[in-house]
Formats: sequence, C-alpha cells, structure tokens
Amino acid sequence: MNVPFVDLSSVHQPLAGALTAAIDRVMASSAFAGGPEVEAFETSFATYCGTDYCVGVGSGTAALELVLRAAGVGSGDEVIVPVNTFVADAEAVLLAGATPVFVDVDAGTGLVDGEAVAAAVGENTAAILPVHLYGQPAAMAPLQALAARQGLLLVEDACQAHGAGDDGRRVGSLGDAAAFSFYPSKNLGALGEAGCVTTDDATLAGRLRMLRDHGSRERYRHELLGRNDRMDGLQAAALGVKLPHLDGWNARRRELAARYRRGLAAVEGVVCLAEREAAEHVFHLFVVRVSQRDRVREGLQAAGIGTGIHYPVPLHLQPCCAQLGYREGAFPVAETLAGEILSLPMFPGLSDDQVDRVIGELRSLL
Ligand SMILES: *Cc1c(COP(=O)(O)O)cnc(C)c1O
Repeated sequence: MNVPFVDLSSVHQPLAGALTAAIDRVMASSAFAGGPEVEAFETSFATYCGTDYCVGVGSGTAALELVLRAAGVGSGDEVIVPVNTFVADAEAVLLAGATPVFVDVDAGTGLVDGEAVAAAVGENTAAILPVHLYGQPAAMAPLQALAARQGLLLVEDACQAHGAGDDGRRVGSLGDAAAFSFYPSKNLGALGEAGCVTTDDATLAGRLRMLRDHGSRERYRHELLGRNDRMDGLQAAALGVKLPHLDGWNARRRELAARYRRGLAAVEGVVCLAEREAAEHVFHLFVVRVSQRDRVREGLQAAGIGTGIHYPVPLHLQPCCAQLGYREGAFPVAETLAGEILSLPMFPGLSDDQVDRVIGELRSLL
C-alpha cells in the first residue's frame, strides 16, 4: 500500500458531475474572466469567513501583493514577516516596493513569534503579515492589540488555513484584510490558479477591485496602475461547488491529525508540532520534527510514502532576499526547524490504514 503525500482525485471524484455541470454553465455563458460566477463565489466566501467583502484575484500571491498596494504600503515602508513560510510573503512585500523585516518563529508551533514582532516594530513599520501556517492560526490577539496601538495594517496570510479559527472566530476576519490562495492542493482548491482577499473595509475592497482589473472601475479609464489579476470564471464556479464541503474535509483532516498524534506519541525521535489551545487547526499540513530527517525521509520514500518539507530554507536565506543582508544564524529557531521538519501525508481522502502504515514505517525507521 503506497501512501501519496497528497491525492486530490479522492476529493474531486465524488464531485465530478457537479464540477462538470459548473464548467458547462460557464462555457454556455462565456463569463470566463470575472463575471457573475466570480461575484457569486465572492459573496459565498465572504459569508463563510464572516466578512463584508471578498475580492477574487488570480492567486494567493497576487492577493498578498495587491492588498498591500491597495492599502498604500510601498516604498519606504517596512512589513514584518515571519521567516518560516512560503516565499510568496517576501515576494509580495518586495513587489509592492516595500521592505520585509523578518522575525523568528515559535519553536513549538512554527508560527510567528508575537514578541519578536513587537520587538521589530520601528519608525517605518507599516504592516504586520502573520501567516496561519500549516492550517493553524497565529495568535492574533496580541498582534491585533499591537497593530491598534501603533496604527499598523494587519494582514493575515490565510493561504493554508481556509476555515480555521482563533478564539472562536474564523480566519479571514481577524485583521484588516486576509489573503487566501485557492491553489489546487490547498484546503479549498480550484482546478487551477485563484486567490482572494477578504475584508470589512469598503475602500480597500474597492481599490482591490480596481487593481486586479487594470486600475479601472469604468471601462478604458485607468485611475490606478493596476494589473490583469482577475479571478477566472471557471475557477469561481468550481470553488462554488467545493465550498459547501470544506468544513467536512477539514473535520476529516482533524481526525487524521488526531490519529497521527496518538500513534506517534509512542514513537521515539518524532515530535508533532504543537497545537495552540485557542486555535481551531485545519491541518493543511501535518508537520513533525524528526531526528535524522533526511535519512528518515529517504526511508519513507523507499517504502512508497510521500512526504514534504515546509519549508527547507527560511526566507532570510533565500537568494531572492540576499539584498536584504540577513545572515545565517539570524533566526535560530526557524533555521533549526528547517533541518528537522517533515510533512507527512495529509488530505481528506487519506485512510486510517494509510496513517497507521506511515506511523509503523516511522517506528521501524527510528
Ligand atoms: C500557497 C501559499 C501562498 C501563495 O498562494 P498562490 O496561490 O500559490 O500564489 C502564499 N502563502 C502561503 C503560506 C501559501 O501556502
């Protein structure tokens, strides 16, 4: 029995009829770029997140960059970003013309360290960009208080955390705005590329709608320097079919995570990353720390078990950030984690037997 790292067919197969019908509907209407399917999905997803607005865009990366630009963050501004995350957070800040100020993460959870954020705030800080990494919300209350006190923009990177919660509130509604990705393997994934921003701020939402569509709200009049970054109608239609299933898929992810946790408790050399008490974790990824990570990973691979590393190189050591001048050793927690973390198979169609096989294989390798 092989265990793939992720298998999307188990999610799509039962919905094949509904997805095909949605695609046929878009073809019949020819509303491929923006249009009524996108508006309908925006309304549903805003309701789901508990926000007034949702603005569909081309990807999670576009959502991050455009929300910063829409809020007026740019040249001369600093944005505080944790180093244990996907490169998009650094890209978005740099592409907006601002400067990322990196901070370390918490050793237990791998999430942004709130005290490090507070210590990094300076004269030029304009925004904080916490990442709800692996599906677990960052502790938002201290960041909300800090942002309010210092007048900073608070943008959630919720690209891995659709449906997750912190203190009983859904992510997407915990800052001034949030960026989501609908990349196919995310907890809510499109059949291609898509993303969105959620917010309660009408002005911000209006500027985002312009920026995604060539800076225009009236055809052929371009008030802002925008981009072509609209959400695609086919993707919106597919997302509309999948959204009602998100909570069920997340519940299954939580069950699988609990099974891993129980089974791995007795395996020496494996430590599951911690869950915050106030967090409703949706396990986009199930991440453990393991000694001799690379040897263990090869052993699992040889046994037909797929794994991942999220992420092997912290942002401050990425070549595309070299001009920022950070050195190895600057963020010891994230650097240590990068050498030990291993993402185990996790997707709603994973079976209990497959989880048990991964646990058994880890036990024999260690
Ligand atoms: C996937 C992801 C993004 C980027 O989303 P895309 O849709 O791939 O552009 C940004 N941040 C995090 C944490 C992600 O996991």
